[in-house]
Amino acid sequence: MSRRSVADMLQLATGVSRFFGAQRVLDGLDLTVEEGEVVALLGRSGSGKSTLLRLLAGLDKPDAGQVTVPDGVGVVFQEARLFPWLDVLDNVTIGLPRTARAAALDALAEVGLADKSRAWPLTLSGGEAQRVALARALVREPRLMLFDEPFGALDALTRIAMHQLVVRIWARHATTVVLVTHDVDEAVLLADRVLVLDGGRIAHQVTVTRAADGSVPATELLDRRAEL
Ligand code: ADP
Ligand code: MG
Repeated sequence: MSRRSVADMLQLATGVSRFFGAQRVLDGLDLTVEEGEVVALLGRSGSGKSTLLRLLAGLDKPDAGQVTVPDGVGVVFQEARLFPWLDVLDNVTIGLPRTARAAALDALAEVGLADKSRAWPLTLSGGEAQRVALARALVREPRLMLFDEPFGALDALTRIAMHQLVVRIWARHATTVVLVTHDVDEAVLLADRVLVLDGGRIAHQVTVTRAADGSVPATELLDRRAEL
């Protein structure tokens, strides 16, 4: 039988420290995720969540320890960071050969923006712009997706719509996800495992049990939230 009994583990960070001047933001942090797992990284403002995500994204280097990420990392930030002088499709395919256009149109359809491929970024709502950023990451078929408070700037209803969208997309692509958020409810709703960053390390973690359809029952939400 070829079925694995244990999913592949990705040891993303080993003993990682990062200082800014005298400030020790990350202090010997270890982070391991299972392939296909959605991990939420929770922590108060200034706890080092974005610092860790930037290290995982390869945008910064640790002062000590090791970061090891798979080839193919997609990153979505709080702001969509679209190029205003390129239309939606060109934003999604930027840096890719022309042959990527069909896949880009598929990715735009997947995020519900099939009719916006020729729109300009400045005409999009905040939620639409974030969906373009998601499509831009998806079309590269990343093995690891990193999200830094991607819904933080959205209004409540748009945020709920985005939650439903990403849960579907993550499940369909079986993507490994590290999602930074400061919202406890969002963490429990979206993640298989919630990690709390405090004192420069993962100080605490909670595993979320989902129903068969992937939803989180209200009792589970309340119990896990109480632990966080
Ligand atoms: P979080 O995302 O959890 O709110 P950050 O990782 O952005 O926290 O920041 C953690 C701490 O590191 C903060 O005190 C912040 O001011 C500091 N910091 C982050 N990036 C830099 C930088 N490039 N230079 C100096 N200090 C920084
Ligand atoms: Mg941050």
